[in-house]
Amino acid sequence: MEKLEQLYEGKAKKVYKTDRPDEFIIEYKDDATAFNGEKKGSIGGKGVINNKMTGVIFTMLEEKGIPTHFIKVLSEKEQLVKAVTIFPLEVIIRNTAAGSICKRLGLEEGLKLKSPIFEFCYKNDDFGDPVINDYHAIAMELATAEEIEVIREMTFKINDILKAYFLEKGINLVDFKIEFGKTNDGQIVLADEISPDTCRFWDVETNEKLDKDRFRRNLGHIEDLGHIEDLGHIEEAYEEMLKRVQA
Ligand code: UDP
Repeated sequence: MEKLEQLYEGKAKKVYKTDRPDEFIIEYKDDATAFNGEKKGSIGGKGVINNKMTGVIFTMLEEKGIPTHFIKVLSEKEQLVKAVTIFPLEVIIRNTAAGSICKRLGLEEGLKLKSPIFEFCYKNDDFGDPVINDYHAIAMELATAEEIEVIREMTFKINDILKAYFLEKGINLVDFKIEFGKTNDGQIVLADEISPDTCRFWDVETNEKLDKDRFRRNLGHIEDLGHIEDLGHIEEAYEEMLKRVQA
């Protein structure tokens, strides 16, 4: 199988065509952005870690009956996937309040939610990935009502599987973002990645953050930290998560 021209470059990954029309190669990057691209940097070893972790988790999800785009890991930073068209939707589940929902709704960080919250964001950088609902998605033809039902059902199933999986590894799955795509033969599958870039992982014992919040809140350059907690050791947190997933 041959790696052909680059189709797309995102913030954390590049996608390449192959000589097979139904297969793409994804290359993971070390680049990191936060706050809608306002904060840029890189996290050493991130590409390798996220490639490996997504491989392990997508394989586990497939075994539990979730269709995904994942085929196999090809190298340290590359994986082979089914070619899909991505729905322009970020699908978010929240089990514990953190991040944007705290600001938006005045919830205290760490509040255990009575039931999981399902959210859609419209994937559009120019508008800062705004939160939308089913009606927006259907009216704007981002997905059909039937497709949304399939996506919602799969997402809650994925949450149940992931919550139990990470709890066994001493991790509270606070929230996560996933994306779905449609294969050339019309199947809706889980796509993109599941990694510390796209999930909030808190240690169950200490509540230590083992995810991208360490990058978002690495405030090395700011002198007056006020009440904000500075989080560093980003690479170590990603390493720790990979270790737990591989255990
Ligand atoms: N998330 C993501 N990509 C985005 C925005 C959010 O992967 O562009 C993930 C984020 O890591 C977290 C969840 O989605 O696990 C919920 O994020 P939130 O809405 O709180 O936004 P943030 O605080 O990341 O801006």
